[in-house]
Amino acid sequence: MRRKLAAGNWKMNGTGAALSELEALSASYPTSPVEILICPPATLLHRASATVKDSGLTVGGQDCHAAVSGAHTGDLSAQMLLDAGANAVILGHSERREDHGEQNDDIRAKARTAMDAGLKAIICVGESLEQREAANTLDIIGGQMSGSIPDQATGENLIVAYEPIWAIGTGKVPTLEEIGEVHDFIRARLERRFGEGVGRSVRLLYGGSVKPGNAAEIFAVSNVDGALVGGASLKAEDFSGIIRALENA
Ligand code: PEP
Repeated sequence: MRRKLAAGNWKMNGTGAALSELEALSASYPTSPVEILICPPATLLHRASATVKDSGLTVGGQDCHAAVSGAHTGDLSAQMLLDAGANAVILGHSERREDHGEQNDDIRAKARTAMDAGLKAIICVGESLEQREAANTLDIIGGQMSGSIPDQATGENLIVAYEPIWAIGTGKVPTLEEIGEVHDFIRARLERRFGEGVGRSVRLLYGGSVKPGNAAEIFAVSNVDGALVGGASLKAEDFSGIIRALENA
C-alpha cells in the first residue's frame, strides 16, 4: 500500500515571514493519513523543520550536490540537508535542468548521494511542449528515468514526479488520460527494471498547475499517488485544499 504524498516546492520564494504559512498548516494537520512535505528555500530549512516538529508535516530540500563534501562554493550536501531537518530532496526539477544545465547523469549522481545519506529522492521527469507535440513524450520520460534513477532505488528512497514542463506554473494541465498514460508507463518501467515488488511500491506524483479545484480529479487517475505542487503550496489555505483532496482520494 503506497502512502499518498502531498509535496510543496516553494522554489526561490519565502523569507522568515513565510513560516506563518507552515504554522497554519501544522495546526491544521497535527497528523494526517497522507504524507505532507514542504520544500522551502534552504535558508528556511532549519527553522521550517522546527516549526513543523510536532505536526504531520515534514520538510525537504530542493537540490543537493553529488559530492559528500568539499570545495563547491554555494552548494549544499545531502548530509547538510539532513542535518537541517530534511527527510527528502527534490532532484532534477526542470528548472534545475534548464537553469543549471543539469543532465540525467548529474541527477543520478545526486540521487545516489542523497539516498546514501538517508534522504528520499524525488526525481522529476517531464517533456517539453515541442516533445509532446512531436509524440515523443514516452521516449523522453523513459530516457530520463533510465538516466537519472540510480540502481539502489527502492520504494522507500525513491519518489518519481511526472512534471510536464509546459504545465509548470502556466495553469495548463494535461488531460486526465494523458496523465494516466504517463503514470502507467512510469509504473511499468519501474516494474520492468526493479521487479514488481519495488516497482509497485515507488510513489508517483503528478506536478504542473495542481490547484485545490483540479486536485480531486487528478488524484483519481490510476497510479497518481499524490502531487508535487509549486505555486499553490505557498499559501496554507491553497495547499490545505490539495491535502484534503488527497486525504479523500
Ligand atoms: C513545480 O514547480 O514543481 C510545479 C509543479 O509548479 P506549479 O504547481 O506552480 O505548476
